[in-house]
Amino acid sequence: MLIDIHTHVQQFNKEDLDLLIHNSKIANVEIIIAAGTTISDSEKSILLSKKYEEIYAAVGIHPQNILDENTNNYLEKLTKLIEHPKTIMISEIGIDIQKESPELSLQKDFFYNQILIAEEYNLPIAFHVRNGEKEALEIIKSANIKNIKSVAHYFLGNYDYAKRLLNENVYISVAKPFLRDEELSEVIKKLPLDQIVIETDSYPQYFKKNRQRWTEPKDLLLIIEKLSKLKNTDPEYITEQIEKNSKNILDL
Ligand SMILES: [Zn+2]
Repeated sequence: MLIDIHTHVQQFNKEDLDLLIHNSKIANVEIIIAAGTTISDSEKSILLSKKYEEIYAAVGIHPQNILDENTNNYLEKLTKLIEHPKTIMISEIGIDIQKESPELSLQKDFFYNQILIAEEYNLPIAFHVRNGEKEALEIIKSANIKNIKSVAHYFLGNYDYAKRLLNENVYISVAKPFLRDEELSEVIKKLPLDQIVIETDSYPQYFKKNRQRWTEPKDLLLIIEKLSKLKNTDPEYITEQIEKNSKNILDL
């Protein structure tokens, strides 16, 4: 079975989601994690997890979305969402340094505090990093991330950064960019298979007119195929190993 460890399927409308679920079943994707980006988006993930057996919820506040809605008492709000039986992860959290991103000190606070809440409830995390590898590593270390299972979502870094993450027992999550990016493929090739997981980061791509071309959990098959070529190993073996890693992280 395949497990999509990071998506935003709660953001699809009903019709598109039903097609996505249908396609996922054909592709043997049996577990899909719907990661929230705000408190209300996390609530949507939980709602969806109640309706669809294969969907599980991740709750969290994305660094870019910190100012999207009132975040007073966000840790209390998250604590309530964690109580739901299908909430199995804290995500999407992290560091995102771009011109229009919220102030870095605020991002650091949110990232650190959400790691601590994951530790308190013994939940795994999946974190996002854009242009802030150094900052993210500092927080990861100071929050003792080794106390929990963790995933570097949508990994695009170099080998040195990957090694630093592996040293903190972080799993590296491989997404579709490595299908085309040779440099990234070379990095992934060197990583131990027992610290790799896979994801699609699926969200509705209205900018792509052809609905067939939207990224969906079924595309995990393409990632498995490429990993199998890179590692010169059977796709079945890769699938089994990644299933084991993902279940270990999610405690399933
Ligand atoms: Zn995401």
